[in-house]
Order: sequence, then C-alpha cells, then structure tokens
Amino acid sequence: MEVSILTLCYLVGSVTFIIGLKMLSNPASARNGNLLAAAGMGIAIIGTIFLYEEDGKKLGNYPWIFGGILIGGIIGTLSAKKVKMTAMPEMVSMFNGMGGACAALISAVEFDHLFQTHRGAESAWLFDFVAGGHYLTIIAGAIIGSVSFAGSMIAWGKLSGKIKDMSFRGQHIVNLLVLLLVLATAAFTYQSNVQSANIPFYITVGLALVYGILFVMPIGGADMPVVISLLNSFTGVAAACGGFLYNNKVMLTGGILVGAAGTLLTILMCKAMNRSLKNVLIGSFGGSSAAGAAGVKKDQGSYKEITLSDTAVVMSYANKVLIVPGYGLAVAQAQHACHELEKLLESKGVEVKYAIHPVAGRMPGHMNVLLAEADVSYDKLMEMEQANDEFPTTDVVLILGANDVVNPAAKTDPSSPIYGMPILDVELAKNVIVNKRSMKPGYAGIENDLFFQPKTSMLFGDAKKVLQDLIGEIKNL
Ligand code: NDP
Repeated sequence: MEVSILTLCYLVGSVTFIIGLKMLSNPASARNGNLLAAAGMGIAIIGTIFLYEEDGKKLGNYPWIFGGILIGGIIGTLSAKKVKMTAMPEMVSMFNGMGGACAALISAVEFDHLFQTHRGAESAWLFDFVAGGHYLTIIAGAIIGSVSFAGSMIAWGKLSGKIKDMSFRGQHIVNLLVLLLVLATAAFTYQSNVQSANIPFYITVGLALVYGILFVMPIGGADMPVVISLLNSFTGVAAACGGFLYNNKVMLTGGILVGAAGTLLTILMCKAMNRSLKNVLIGSFGGSSAAGAAGVKKDQGSYKEITLSDTAVVMSYANKVLIVPGYGLAVAQAQHACHELEKLLESKGVEVKYAIHPVAGRMPGHMNVLLAEADVSYDKLMEMEQANDEFPTTDVVLILGANDVVNPAAKTDPSSPIYGMPILDVELAKNVIVNKRSMKPGYAGIENDLFFQPKTSMLFGDAKKVLQDLIGEIKNL
C-alpha cells in the first residue's frame, strides 16, 4: 500500500512540476506556478523520506536529512529575500552550481558504494562487477555535475565582479584536450582493477572540475546568460542521471525537464542575440576578440541635451509614446514612477506602450518581471518584432536606462562585439529621448552612435528622479 502512495506522491510531484513550468511562461501565473511546483516537489520529498523502503527498511538518518533541509532552507530563504533583482543571475548561477555539486556527490557516493562492495575481490576488473549502463549513469552524473558546479561558480564570480575574463592563445585546444582526458580517464576507470578503481574515478572528477573552470573562464560580456542557461541544463541532465541510479521517477522527470528547459532557453537566447552556440562558447565575447572594439573611443561628434520641461511638452503632445526599459531602470528601481508616467500620459490621451528587448536588463524576462511588479498591464508590453513594426508610427521613444539593446552598431558595424544581435529600431521614430546618468557605455562596454544622431536628445539623471520630476512637470503644464 505504502509503495503505491509513494508512487502517487511522485506522480503529483511530476505533474505539478510540468504544470508549474507551463505557468512560468506567463508573468501573471508565474508566481503561482512556482509555488505549485515547489509544493508538488515537497510532497515527493516528504513521501521519499517517510515511505521509501529498501529490503523492508526505511531511510532513517532523519537528523541528517532534516538538519540538511533546515540549514539549506534557511540559507535559501534568506538569500532569496535579500537578493536585489539586478543580482538575480548571480544567485541563479550559485544555486545551479549547488545542484550540479549535489548530482556529482550522488555519483561519487554511489561509486564509493560499488568500490567498497567489490574491492575485496582478487585481481578482477571493475567491469566484471558493474554493468556498463550502471557505470555510465554514475560517471555521466559525476562528470556533468562537476562541470556544472565548477562552471557555475566561475560564472557567479564573473557576474559579481570577483573574477575577470581570462583567456590565452590556444585555450580552445587546451579545453578540448582536457575534455578528451576526462573521457579517457572515465573509460580507464571502468577497465581498472577493482581494488584501485577509485583513483582514476577521482582523477576524472578532478579533471571535470578543471574543465568546468576552463570552459567558462574565457566567456564574458553579453554571453554570460547563455552560458548560465547551458550550465542549468547540464545540472538537469546530471540530476536525471541520479534519477536513473535510484530508479526515482520524480528525480528523473525533474532532471529531464530542467535539462530540456535549459536547452530551449539557451537556444532562444542565442537566437535573440543572433549568435550560434558554438560562437558563444568559443567566441570569447567581451574577452579577447571583443577587446579591440570595446572601450575604443570613436569621434562621434556631439550630442544634444533636452530639459525636463521640453521633455514634458514633447511627450504630452505626442499621439504615441513607446517606452524602452533597460538595465538602468532596474538599478534605479524606477518601475513604479514609470507606470505613473504611463497613466498620466494616457489620461492626456497619449497612447503609451513598452518595447521589450529579449535581453534587456540582466536576465531573461527581467523587464517583464520588473514592470509586472509595478502593475503595468501585460498587454502594454510589446516584444521586439512587434515594437519594431510600431516605431515608424511613434512620435516619441523614451529610453530609460537601456543602451546595448538600442545600439545601431549591431546592424551597421561588423567589428562590433554585438554585431548581428537584433536590436530595437528606435531611430525609426520621430523623436528619441534617452535617459541615463552619463555618456558611459552599457554592459557590452561599447559606445552607442544612437546618442549622437540628430533625432536623439539626452536627458541625464537617475531614472527614478528624472521620472518623478517629469511627472511633476507634466502635471504643471
Ligand atoms: P545596458 O547595460 O546596455 O545599459 C544600461 C544603461 O543604464 C547604462 O548605459 C547606464 O548608463 C544606465 N544606467 C545605469 N544606472 C542608471 C540609473 N540609475 N538611471 C538611469 N540610467 C542608468 O542595458 P540594456 O538593458 O540596454 O542591455 C542589457 C545588456 O546586458 C545587453 O548587453 C545584454 O546582452 C546583457 N545581459 C543581458 C542579460 C539578460 O538575460 N537580459 C543577462 C546578462 C547580460 P549610465 O551609467 O550612464 O547611467
């Protein structure tokens, strides 16, 4: 009876996970989707702890299990409550690394279990005792989990500014050699004498960790989110290996779904930046190949500034205004002021919408989440393709703390590191007003010709303060 209740728990866990994932695709249902999936997973975990039996024995080890859950739960809750929206990718990277480490540890424990069971046998090879499929699952979990852990830690260090991009001539060849070495030692472990097979196993894990570091080290700039998403899918696959090992259906489903979702997101982000995955992985964006273009000051002529009162007039008498939010809006936490401006303009008969670039901000969906927080209606948010069709009939584009996603160099300058990335064609509108604090570049570290074009006016200042003052000016008109 208990086995069937446990199976039911796994079914609930798997189904809620799938429904939860589906709900995450819309900001309106995302929060509930997350809660639903977490609740389902909670049921599966509690079911495993209390109902799982092997040879008539329950799991036991309750102080260890609940001690771990308590410590992990407290750390997770505190960090999630404390984290700023702009630091979210770092946290995702750190948590993803922990998932990879867990999967690798599961494999290490299972290998040790096999090793301790058979090491007493005389002069025999590991493959005499362990089926090929079983060994493959263990070693795949160990390698993929280790790569994911080490890579995610480097990604976390880079995103938090603690680690700089590092690449050297021929690094891709070195990386390839290390990867081949990982596979070779993994194969060697299976052929080893059962009494000493643990040594090549741990060498394999060590090399996989080195590979994880070398793999992420040269990647930088705008390619980091793609790598994090890829590492996320690695962790999913490594967790699925754990599911195979323990014949645990919910772990298998969860791992496969995370692996598949991470892979899809990786492909979508590559598409959004118009870059192939190969190019992302060996292109060293923001690293060596981008260094030539980044930071180079070109003679772009002069830019013109606009005052708050002129901005108020231009916007109030416009028929259609498109707002382009970017990373700076998130830094300034100006989403509520932005929504207030939108309502004020609409009360004056101006049509206001938002143009959302897929990689605006610092994580996929960053702007959607930010604007949803301020109760901006979802049907006001336009995706890039739709917005690009609307710019030619737009009177004013107000760019709030966005830079790379409106940089025409992506279309016109083949030497630019963002060349080929689809961007918002804001220059097609009648007037472009750019709010930022200075002429400093954005994430990709490159200058933006848009700021020097005749249609463009700069409105300097912190986005929140500028919006609040602008609202005051419009009210006084
Ligand atoms: P950018 O980083 O290109 O530009 C943001 C601009 O905001 C800066 O130029 C900055 O200028 C300005 N800014 C900063 N603080 C404020 C403030 N308080 N008030 C007003 N302005 C401010 O942002 P985008 O959103 O245009 O582009 C995102 C970039 O990040 C892309 O290169 C993308 O590839 C990358 N990326 C995207 C991720 C994603 O998944 N969305 C993840 C990681 C990176 P100033 O200092 O002069 O104020």
